[in-house]
Amino acid sequence: MKWFVGIAALLVFASPAFAQGKLNVMASTEDLASLAREVGGDKVNVDSIAKGYQDPHFVEAKPSFILKLQKADLLIVVGRELEIGWLPPLMQQSRNQKIQVGAAGYLDASLGAQILEIPTGQITRAMGDVHPLGNPHYWLDPENGRRVAKEIDAKLDELRPGDKAYFDGRLADFNTRLDAAEKRWAASMAPYKGTKVVTYHRSFPNFAERYGLDIVGYVEPRPGIPPTPQHTLDLQNEMKRQNVKIIMVEPYFDLKTPNAIGRDTGAKVLVMPPSVGGVKEVTDYFKLFDYDINLFIESMKK
Ligand SMILES: [Zn+2]
Repeated sequence: MKWFVGIAALLVFASPAFAQGKLNVMASTEDLASLAREVGGDKVNVDSIAKGYQDPHFVEAKPSFILKLQKADLLIVVGRELEIGWLPPLMQQSRNQKIQVGAAGYLDASLGAQILEIPTGQITRAMGDVHPLGNPHYWLDPENGRRVAKEIDAKLDELRPGDKAYFDGRLADFNTRLDAAEKRWAASMAPYKGTKVVTYHRSFPNFAERYGLDIVGYVEPRPGIPPTPQHTLDLQNEMKRQNVKIIMVEPYFDLKTPNAIGRDTGAKVLVMPPSVGGVKEVTDYFKLFDYDINLFIESMKK
C-alpha cells in the first residue's frame, strides 16, 4: 500500500496545475475573462459563464456552471446588478465559501470603474428596469478596461503574493499595449465625433462618451423592456427630426423592430457586439474594439 500512496503523491506533485499553483478564475462574462487572462497569464486558469453572444442580463443558469464555481478560487463579476437574475443562485448552490460576496475570492469589477447613468433619488427596479444601479455595460470604454485590469492585478497579488512581480509585469505590458491601441482607436473615430446614433439597449453609453457619439434614443423604451408601437413611432419621429442614420443593435435582439425603423427613417442597422465572443472573430478585449470601431467606420464611409 505504501508504494501506491507514494506514487499517487508523486503524480499529484508532478501535475502541472499543482507545480505552478494555478489559480482557478471564473468570470461572469467573456470580457472580464479576457482581462483576467491579460493579467493572470499562465499562472491562472480562466473560464467564464455568460457567452458574449448572450444578453448578459438574462443567462440560463445551467447546472454545469455550479460545477465550475465549485472549483473557483476567484470569481469576478460585472456588478451593478447585471448578473442579479442568474448568478446569485449559482453561487449559493456551489457552496464554495471562497467566492461568496465579501470573501477574498470575490471581485466586483464595477467598484473601480467609471459608471454612467447612476440614478438620482430613489433606486428602483420599477417597470422592470434592469439598470437600477447605473449602467453596467461600462467595459465598453477602454479606460474602464484599464481600471478593471488594475483591480484584477491587485486581487491576484492578494491571493498569490508570491507571484506579485509576475502579475504586475503582465499588467504593465497590458497597459502599454492598451495605450497604443487607444491612440489608434481615437484617431480612427475622430472624424465621426458628434455622429448621432440610436441603440437597441443602453449597452453603449461608455463607448459613445469615449468616442464622442451622440446617442439620440433607444429601441427599448426602458432597459430590459421590449419595444412598444408608441415608443417606436416617437423614436422614428425623433430620428427623422435629428437625421439619425445609424441604429446599433446587440446580436441577441430581434431585428424586426430595428429593421422596420431603418425602413421608415433610412437609417442603417448595424449588428454590433458589446462583448468579447459576441461574434466569432472577437476573441479578446482588444479585438472587441477593433471590430466595433471598424464596423462603425465602414458603415459611415458607405
Ligand atoms: Zn443592460
